[in-house]
Amino acid sequence: MEALLWIGLTVLAIALPLAWPRWRLRRALKKPLPAAALAVLARNVPVYRSMAPELQQQLRQLVTQFLHTKKFIGCDGLDVTDEMAVTIAGQACLLLLNRPSKVYSALHTILVYPGAFVAARDEVGPGGVVTPGRKTMLGESWDDGRVVLSWDDVQQAAQDWSASHQVVLHEFAHQLDSESGRANGAPYLGHPGSYSDWAEVLSRDYQSLRLHAMYRQPTVLDHYGATSPAEFFAVATETFFSKPWLMAAHHAALYAEFLKYYRVDPRQWLAAPPPEPAAPVTPPGYAWMGGW
Ligand SMILES: [Zn+2]
Repeated sequence: MEALLWIGLTVLAIALPLAWPRWRLRRALKKPLPAAALAVLARNVPVYRSMAPELQQQLRQLVTQFLHTKKFIGCDGLDVTDEMAVTIAGQACLLLLNRPSKVYSALHTILVYPGAFVAARDEVGPGGVVTPGRKTMLGESWDDGRVVLSWDDVQQAAQDWSASHQVVLHEFAHQLDSESGRANGAPYLGHPGSYSDWAEVLSRDYQSLRLHAMYRQPTVLDHYGATSPAEFFAVATETFFSKPWLMAAHHAALYAEFLKYYRVDPRQWLAAPPPEPAAPVTPPGYAWMGGW
């Protein structure tokens, strides 16, 4: 009898730490988001207002799960308010709609600065000489489970959705990208057959952006995307969600790949912009360089 009791207690000691967080999460998901949080979503995730009710419901559930499982830390004296947390969660979870997702399972902490912050960054000079440096940043994504954000820039992105840098979308695209092992512009696509089209289309548009950036020509995708394939994916994610009409018009194949990956069409949430002036001229001697 005593032996049975000990076995029972041992099983309980193993099972409880696993079952308890799941039970708490299930309980949290049953509670609707408070009215104040819904008002924040409507205000600071502007596309939320135009979504179909089913997608709005999905986003609310994802936000609840995000808030339940992630820790927010204010930096430089910032107190992270409920508005800040819901805004960041709402924008980050846009990338997870309609997708089988564990809500950024590798991510545990979001550090929030009041504004742009300075981070240590080594610079590699000619001959590979490394010089310690410092750089002003709007956001950072680390594959050890941290994202760092400037609240000023998160707010700016919320207020001016199609015109600003979307720092939350950018950094959380890096988080998705790194789920495949390392951030390299090739996130986990699900089906092995999807990678060849993805690599061909993204490689071609990345090389094109590099050329346009070199010639300093205006482009729909920010020139920062020409820095590396990982930055190209993050910048294209920002553009997909904030300027979908322009991206679809100028990068039809890329837009089609992102439609397949993100499983939503942000054109349904944002009005088409007025017709644009003539497209920029392609630089002479342009050729696809290939490679990804
Ligand atoms: Zn980046």
